[in-house]
Amino acid sequence: MSTTVLVINSGSSSIKYQLIEPEEGVVVASGLVERIGEAAGLLRHTFEGVDTRLTEPVADHGAGLRRVLELFAEVGPDLGAAGIVAVGHRVVQGGARYSGPALVDEKVLADIEELIPLAPLHNPPNLRGIQVARELLPDVPHVAVFDTAFFSDLPDAAATYALDREVAKRYRVRRYGAHGTSHQYVSRTAATVVGRPLEELRQVVLHLGNGASASAVVGGRAVDTSMGMTPLEGLVMGTRTGDIDPAVIFHLSRNAGFTIDEIDDLFNRRSGLKGLSGQNDMREVHALVADGDAGARLALDVYAHRLRKYVGAYAAVMGGLDVLSFTAGIGENDDIVRAEALRGLEFLGIELDAARNTGRLSEPKVVSTDGSRVTVLVVPTKEEQEIARQTVSLL
Ligand code: AMP
Repeated sequence: MSTTVLVINSGSSSIKYQLIEPEEGVVVASGLVERIGEAAGLLRHTFEGVDTRLTEPVADHGAGLRRVLELFAEVGPDLGAAGIVAVGHRVVQGGARYSGPALVDEKVLADIEELIPLAPLHNPPNLRGIQVARELLPDVPHVAVFDTAFFSDLPDAAATYALDREVAKRYRVRRYGAHGTSHQYVSRTAATVVGRPLEELRQVVLHLGNGASASAVVGGRAVDTSMGMTPLEGLVMGTRTGDIDPAVIFHLSRNAGFTIDEIDDLFNRRSGLKGLSGQNDMREVHALVADGDAGARLALDVYAHRLRKYVGAYAAVMGGLDVLSFTAGIGENDDIVRAEALRGLEFLGIELDAARNTGRLSEPKVVSTDGSRVTVLVVPTKEEQEIARQTVSLL
C-alpha cells in the first residue's frame, strides 16, 4: 500500500486540501470548503475524476473539516485504506525561528500564536486549521510547513531594514518573505530541468499569482526576496501596492484623514492591478488593454517595470544569473507578461524565444532561445506536493 499525506491550507474563510502520495507527488483527491461562516458555504471534493459539489452552511473551520472527512468516507478514498501517515499544514509566518518543517506540539502551536502580530490575516486561520485537524485526526502526526522557512536564513544584509536597531529588535521588524515553499520547489525543480547541480546555479524565481514575489537563490539558498515583514512589499500584485514610499502613509493620515485601518485596506485590498485598472485578475486587465483602456495599459506597464527592476537588482546581488523561472497563475499562463517583464534585458544574457514562450504551459519548459546565456523556464508550482514532501521528510 502506498502512503499518503493530507495537506491542509486553512484560510480565513476557506479550507483547501489535497491527499498526496509524496513519493511521486500524485494527487489522489483534493477539494475545498469556501465561505465558512456565511449563509451558503461551498464544498467541492474531487476523487477519481468525479467532482462532488455541495452548497450548505458551514459554521466554522471545525464543521468544515468534519464535512471534509465525511466526504472522504462517503465519496472516497477511505483515509485509513489510503495509507495516510501524516497531515501537513501550510503556515504563513514562522518568524526567524523556523528554518524548516516542524512536528506540531504545544510549543509549535504557541509559537504560531505568538507570531500572529506579524501575520494577523494568516496565522489565526492556519492555527485554527491545525487545532481542528488534530482533534479530528488524532492518530497521525501533524506537521507545520512555514511559508517563511526558505527565507529564514537570508543574509543579514538582505533581511535587515535600515531602521533603528532597538525598535527593529524589540518589535521583530525584518524581512521574513513569503511563498517560500513555492520558491524552494521551483528553484529545485529548475535545476533538474536544466540538468545542472543546484549548488552551482544563480537563480531568480518570479512567483506571479494573485500575490506575487521574486527571489534570488544561489546554490539552492535564498539570498534575497521581495516580500518583506509582510506580503505587502515588493512586486505589484492583484490588489496590493508592493513597494511604496512609507511616507505615503504619513501623507494620507495627516492630510487626507485616513485611519491606519483604512490605509491597510487601501494598500492590501484596493491597490495593485485593481487600484490601477479596476480589475485584480490579469486576464481582465488584458481584455481592457485590448479595448484601449489607458488605466489597464498603465497597470500592465507598472507591473512589468517592477519585474524588470527586480530581475536586474537580483542579477546584481548574485553577481550574475543562470536560470530565471516563472511560476503561479500569471507566470505559468501569461506569455504577454513574461515577454514584457524580460523586454530589454538582453544585456543580461536573457533572450526569450517567442515561439517557445507562446501560450499556457502546464509542464516545466524552457522558453528562452538556445543561445540565451540565461535559461528562462516556466515551472508550474506545486506547493501542496512540496508540503507533502517536507512533511514526510520530517517523520
Ligand atoms: P494564483 O494566485 O497562482 O492562483 O494566480 C491567480 C492569478 O493568475 C489570477 O488572478 C489571474 O490574474 C492569473 N491567471 C490565471 N490564469 C491566467 C491566464 N490564462 N492568463 C493570464 N493570467 C492568468
